[in-house]
Amino acid sequence: MHVAIVGAGLVGRLLAWRLNALNQGIKITLIDQHDHNYIGTGLVAAAMVAPYTEAISTEAVTQELGVKSYLLWEQWLPELEAHTSRSISFNQKGTIVVSHAQDEPDFQRFNIKANAMIASDKMQIMNQAQLKTLEPQLADNFNHGLFFSEEGVIDNQALYPVLNQYFEQQENITLIENTKIDNINNNGTLKHFDQTFDTVFDCRGNGASEDLKDFRSVRGEVARVSAPEVSISRAVRLIHPRYPLYIAPRKNHEYIIGATQIESDDKQPVTVRSSLELLSALYSLHQGFSEAHIIDLRVGLRPTFVNNQPRIEYDNKLIRINGLYRHGYLFTPAIINDLIETLL
Ligand SMILES: Cc1cc2nc3c(=O)[nH]c(=O)nc-3n(C[C@H](O)[C@H](O)[C@H](O)COP(=O)(O)OP(=O)(O)OC[C@H]3O[C@@H](n4cnc5c(N)ncnc54)[C@H](O)[C@@H]3O)c2cc1C
Repeated sequence: MHVAIVGAGLVGRLLAWRLNALNQGIKITLIDQHDHNYIGTGLVAAAMVAPYTEAISTEAVTQELGVKSYLLWEQWLPELEAHTSRSISFNQKGTIVVSHAQDEPDFQRFNIKANAMIASDKMQIMNQAQLKTLEPQLADNFNHGLFFSEEGVIDNQALYPVLNQYFEQQENITLIENTKIDNINNNGTLKHFDQTFDTVFDCRGNGASEDLKDFRSVRGEVARVSAPEVSISRAVRLIHPRYPLYIAPRKNHEYIIGATQIESDDKQPVTVRSSLELLSALYSLHQGFSEAHIIDLRVGLRPTFVNNQPRIEYDNKLIRINGLYRHGYLFTPAIINDLIETLL
C-alpha cells in the first residue's frame, strides 16, 4: 500500500508518524510546499492540550475529543522519544484560570459554566492560599482562581524537529519538500507524481481553501517572551472582557502569550494594536513581565469551517482532514486514531 499525504503541517506529520507506527509496511509520501523548517500554524501555536478550559468556551464535544487526545499524547510521545533518543516535554501541570477583581462577573460566569460542564474531580476552585502554594507569583495579583489539573502543554518547538529526524530515519517515509500541490482529485493521482496512490490524504490546512466549502481562516497572533523574573510553571488563562489571554510556559523562563482571534486570512506581521493588547494584558498578570524580552511575534492562520468543528471528507481515493481551527493539538491525535481504526 502506498499513500500520499499532502501537507506536512501538524495533521500531515502526525498522520505519517502514526501510519508508519502500525508497522504494516505502508509506504508514505509526505509532501509540502515548504521545507521542513518552515514555521507554519502548528509551530506558531501555543500547543496547549486543554480539554476542559476549551470546552467551557466552545462545545461540549471538545471535552471528549480533547481527553482522548491528551491520553494519546501521553502514550505516543514516549514512543517517539524512544525512536529518536530526543525528549519532547509534555508539561502536565494543568491550567489555572484567573481574572482581575474588576472582571469578577466574567469569572463567575465562567465558573458557573464550568460547574455545569466539567466533573467536579477535574476542577477545583482555589483561594489565595491555595493559589500561592500552586503558583506563588500569581498570588501577588489574584486572590482566587480555578484549577484544571488534567491539562497540558506540548513543546512543539521540539516535536517538529524530532519528527523531522524520525521521517529521515524511517525507510517507508519519503518527505518531498518545496512542492506545491493544488486541485487534488479523487483518483489517486497527483501533479508532479507518476504513480497512482492507493489513498491521498489532503492535510493542507488553509492551503486547501479553494477546494472546500464553508471554509475560512482565523488569524492568530502570539508573542514569545523571555522573562527571567517570572516563574510560572503551568498554563494560565486570564479572563478579560476585551483581551482574554493565555500564557503557555516553555523551558528557561520563556512563555508563549496568545492569542488574538481575527476573522482574516491576512498573513502579514503582527499589528501594533494586537501586540499592545497581548503585552499589556500580560503585564497585568505579573509585573515581572515588564522586564521580559520579546523574542518574537508570530502570526498563524487557523484552518476553520463555518461551525468551528473539524471535518473528515471521504471521496473515492481522497480523504480530506481539515478544520482543526484552534484545536490542532487538542483534537488531531483522537481524530487520526479513529480514522486509522476505521481504515484498517
Ligand atoms: C496563534 C495560534 C495558537 C494556537 N494554539 C493552539 C493550542 O494551544 N492548542 C491547539 O490544540 N491548537 C492550537 N492552534 C491551532 C493549531 O495550530 C492548528 O489547528 C493546526 O496547526 C492545524 O493543522 P493543519 O495540519 O491542518 O494545518 P497546518 O499546521 O497549517 O499545516 C498545513 C501544511 O500544509 C502545507 N500546504 C498548504 N498548502 C499546500 C499545497 N498547496 N501543497 C503542499 N503543501 C501545502 C503547509 O505548508 C503546511 O505545512 C493554534 C493556532 C494558532 C494560529
